[in-house]
Amino acid sequence: MALDLKVGDVVRMKKAHPCGNHLWLVTRLGADIGITCQQCHRRLMLARSLMERRVKEVIPRTREPLDFGDAVTSGS
Ligand SMILES: [Zn+2]
Repeated sequence: MALDLKVGDVVRMKKAHPCGNHLWLVTRLGADIGITCQQCHRRLMLARSLMERRVKEVIPRTREPLDFGDAVTSGS
């Protein structure tokens, strides 16, 4: 399964970092994917194929706000 990642996404890994954290911020995309530990801020570069095996869940940074009532429209 291909991993659909964007810079700014947070990924939950299957295995915890030695610091005990599971959440990593995606900071770089390419042949290798750069991630930063959300707790100790250590940076890692992982091959995409390795990432696909290690990621448990992708948490997109931009969450669609729920519409309650009127949608806000701008412009004309
Ligand atoms: Zn860490």
